[in-house]
Amino acid sequence: MVDETRKKAEKICKALIREYGDEVSERKLPPIDELVMTILSQHTNDVNMFRAFESLKATYSTWDEVLAAPQDELANSIRSSGMYNLKAKRIQATLREIQERVGKLDLSLLEKMEIPQAKEWLTSLHGVGPKTAAIVLLFSFGLPVLPVDTHVWRVTKRLGIIDETVSREKAHDLLEHIMPRTCISSLNKNLVQHGREVCKAQNPRCDKCFLSILCLYYSEVDRT
Ligand code: SF4
Repeated sequence: MVDETRKKAEKICKALIREYGDEVSERKLPPIDELVMTILSQHTNDVNMFRAFESLKATYSTWDEVLAAPQDELANSIRSSGMYNLKAKRIQATLREIQERVGKLDLSLLEKMEIPQAKEWLTSLHGVGPKTAAIVLLFSFGLPVLPVDTHVWRVTKRLGIIDETVSREKAHDLLEHIMPRTCISSLNKNLVQHGREVCKAQNPRCDKCFLSILCLYYSEVDRT
């Protein structure tokens, strides 16, 4: 069964790469930038998140300045992301924790770690879960990890790569174990694109889907 799932995963990966390419993403920001962006991205869309991030970077030159800033001033600079008071508090708490643990606002120590160790280090920061850790490792360090967002989670469950009952947190390690290493780096981008354009949450466009022949959901729905 595991072997069959792996074979299917390989076919899916190849089909996704054929359709969407195998680039990772244009984002190549330093790790603390990625961490802060994930905080800003909560409960908002990408446009508002990027707007808030740009405003924050225009207001402060360094992360030390962000840490030392009055909280209401920082909140004001990230207003467009929504829930700005809470996010300002979380950003400063995360920066403070890094400062205390590393002695400076710098995460380059992760570069020398193996992937599991780096994940463990990041997720031991308060409020940092497996998705955020994977985003930092993939986008800042180019490591072959898979951030599992709502699209990745939904599409891989429908395809039958992971079971319906698997939590999003557990899906990280499981999918990284099942999916071929050669396609892991582009998988987040490709599955997000597929989830947004074809395998939509409400009405999946199975009739237009190049993965239908491999899809569990498609094989089970009543198409009479
Ligand atoms: S066949 Fe339908 S459910 Fe399966 S991946 Fe494609 S769009 Fe999603």
